[in-house]
Amino acid sequence: MTAFTYRCTDCGRSYSRDEVRYLCPACGASYRPGIPLVGVLEAVFDAAAIRSAFDPRNPDWQLFCAVEREFHPPLPVGNTPLVKVDRLGSELGLSALWVKNDGLNPSGSLKDRASFLVAAEALRLGEKRVVAASTGNAASALAAVCASAGLEALIFVPEKAPRAKLVQMVLAGATVVPVKGTYDDAFRLSLEYTARRGGLNRNTAYHPLTIEGKKTAGLEIWAQLGYEVPDAIVVSVGDGVILGGVHKAFVDLKRAGLVDRLPRLVGVQAEKSDAIHRYVETGRYSDAPDPSTRADSISVVCPSNAHGARRAVLESQGLTLTVTDAEILDAQALLLARTGIFAEPAGAAALAGLARLQAGPGRLAAGERVVLLATGHGLKDVEAPLSRVSIPSAIEPRLEAVRA
Ligand SMILES: *Cc1c(COP(=O)(O)O)cnc(C)c1O
Ligand SMILES: [Zn+2]
Repeated sequence: MTAFTYRCTDCGRSYSRDEVRYLCPACGASYRPGIPLVGVLEAVFDAAAIRSAFDPRNPDWQLFCAVEREFHPPLPVGNTPLVKVDRLGSELGLSALWVKNDGLNPSGSLKDRASFLVAAEALRLGEKRVVAASTGNAASALAAVCASAGLEALIFVPEKAPRAKLVQMVLAGATVVPVKGTYDDAFRLSLEYTARRGGLNRNTAYHPLTIEGKKTAGLEIWAQLGYEVPDAIVVSVGDGVILGGVHKAFVDLKRAGLVDRLPRLVGVQAEKSDAIHRYVETGRYSDAPDPSTRADSISVVCPSNAHGARRAVLESQGLTLTVTDAEILDAQALLLARTGIFAEPAGAAALAGLARLQAGPGRLAAGERVVLLATGHGLKDVEAPLSRVSIPSAIEPRLEAVRA
């Protein structure tokens, strides 16, 4: 761990680590559920200390970590494979394409990274209960990490969350409260709960260490590419915290003088869950009133990190785009058929976006080094692709029947 302070991403005020917990006290006063978060805090590390201590030949990632190792839960997360995917790349006109397979985290999604760090913070603070609202994956991640650490997980999820994710939470021993309504309703309820009843709230971007946790995916990409910055990273976007976290990795590396540029971020949203995309394009924020999509993990009316995500896209000179559910399910099948990697619809949305980008005038050049982040495992939701799969009917166990 390196010393850090929190800085408000809106007003720039700084706070010591234990002076604040969630939003900037000055700006957060004007936050009410139903608008994107204001006063989101950013951890600002002592860059000089990182620069003098970091050695790529023997990297100590703890230097970039906001919670001391002694508090880390005993469930390793991250360190997922980065796979060069030439068959898929050539189909998209790219000679240097990789997939970062974050579906291989313990609970099957990138959310483990955020839940891990917030659970570590709960252990440091002596909090026994961690509370979250989630479309599903953040909750199944929190349930798993809390199970390993002996913490209580209290989870608010929309009642329509995929069953595999609900099974994960319940079997891990979490207290699961399905909420009638959307993810946004669950988000508001969980904030009310922690304000009145206590516990540590893990809501995405609301707790600043969710961004720090997701940052580790970006740090790993840098290391796995031999300490080189890729030209572009393609990320599916719901609340915009994965996007913000991956960006923060390269911001931290740049502040420490370890890299000299930022990768372009390509943020992909579902057609109807497009609040961040429209915000980036127009500079004006408005909700996505009916964000229905088969990619449940990126379905959100009002993305909590809309402001941070927009800043990250602009600062990286990146872009956003949207894709239809049909494109997402096509991409899910293509990814599995060309690489062997099975991603849930929200994870495959990144590929759908890249495919759309490569088919148009703004396509990435053939030699650009591009990383696709596959954020969640396909087995988390087999219902979504099932409608498009025809499973052959059973045969008599005789050789002639096989031939037929
Ligand atoms: C949460 C999630 C996303 C989107 O992350 P945000 O931080 O909400 O933008 C994408 N894919 C999967 C599988 C997720 O679980
Ligand atoms: Zn502020």
